[in-house]
Amino acid sequence: MADLRVSVTEAFRHRFGAPPAHVVRAPGRVNLIGEHTDYNDGFVMPLAIEQAVWLAVGPRDDDRVVLHSTRAPEPADFRLGAMERGDGWGEYAKGVAWALQAQGHELRGLEGVLASDVPEGAGLSSSAALELAVARALSEGAGLDWDPAVMARTAQRAENEWVGVRCGVMDQMASACGVAGHAVLLDCRSLAVTPTPLPAWTTVLVLDTGTRRGLVDSAYNARRETCERVARVLSVPALRDATLDGLQAAEDVLTPTQVRRARHVVTENARVLAAAEAMRQGDAARVGALMAASHASLRDDYEVSSPALNAFVEAAQAQPGCYGARMTGAGFGGCVVALVASDRAEAVAEAATLAYRQRTGHAPTAYRVRAVGGASLEPVPALFL
Ligand code: ADP
Ligand code: MG
Repeated sequence: MADLRVSVTEAFRHRFGAPPAHVVRAPGRVNLIGEHTDYNDGFVMPLAIEQAVWLAVGPRDDDRVVLHSTRAPEPADFRLGAMERGDGWGEYAKGVAWALQAQGHELRGLEGVLASDVPEGAGLSSSAALELAVARALSEGAGLDWDPAVMARTAQRAENEWVGVRCGVMDQMASACGVAGHAVLLDCRSLAVTPTPLPAWTTVLVLDTGTRRGLVDSAYNARRETCERVARVLSVPALRDATLDGLQAAEDVLTPTQVRRARHVVTENARVLAAAEAMRQGDAARVGALMAASHASLRDDYEVSSPALNAFVEAAQAQPGCYGARMTGAGFGGCVVALVASDRAEAVAEAATLAYRQRTGHAPTAYRVRAVGGASLEPVPALFL
């Protein structure tokens, strides 16, 4: 939100006694379709959303990076010339600095204040938003060129190799390469970005189940390993290259679980491409049907949904004006994404929330999201110039 731009600027001035040199913004994202396909070199269709990390920064004379987050009591505080592993949220910032330096970039120290309205662990990628905000600020401070896809890879490397989370590249690509008013079809192998307009008169709703699951990391790694194993059996570089025929031919040498996991990935990639085509034709009903099929596949074949996610999806899809809904993000909790008729958005959100609350007893929230551009340098509020 624009008010975070002002509040981080004020917080910066309060803390450091001068206005910031730069304000950067890096958005969270919601994935419309294409789940658990990114680490299989496949296709995804996220949109960058207004909810974002905002970071006000200024240069320092030494090689320290000191960042304060409104969400954490301790700042991220480290020296660019002496990077050591630690724990806590600062590792995301440190990881980005480490990855940039590992690519040979010379960075400069900086200090700043950040605030975010991307909920954590909800499947909207608060971590990628944080990484891209830090990357944008460090790049600006050091006068580096900003190539969004390259920076997305750098941020992914930070999360993989410094933080130790084996995420795919979708979150970072979405935060770096978002396009206002569009979802982006991403090829997670080539990193090609194809802006894809949302069908006219449709709105994207995020329905937060109010549940979060710790299970996600171990299950995520297990799914990844299964995918890699099946790809080896099929003699393809990644499941993106597998076909349903190929999978069927190998059924004797795979377990039924491996077949179902791989079937999700193969069919999900096809659904993403079909959804992109339907969006180009403005066919909201078709996009919604593909989202519903995606959810069924994640629930039954990939087994990463949860009773709460299933209940909210069902509650949304029962509403007139809802084209389709599915779990979004890694799963086991977090959010549902729904494509709805714009003139029914409020009614769908209200009725689905009520039905879900009555059925589960959880405390849901629902909001519409707007597709915005990727990580950017923003004007410092004029008040402080
Ligand atoms: P998500 O799905 O939201 O990306 P992750 O577990 O990948 O969930 O990342 C969440 C982590 O990112 C938090 O535990 C915290 O370390 C870090 N983080 C995200 N936003 C902020 C913030 N505004 N301030 C400090 N740390 C943050
Ligand atoms: Mg994350």
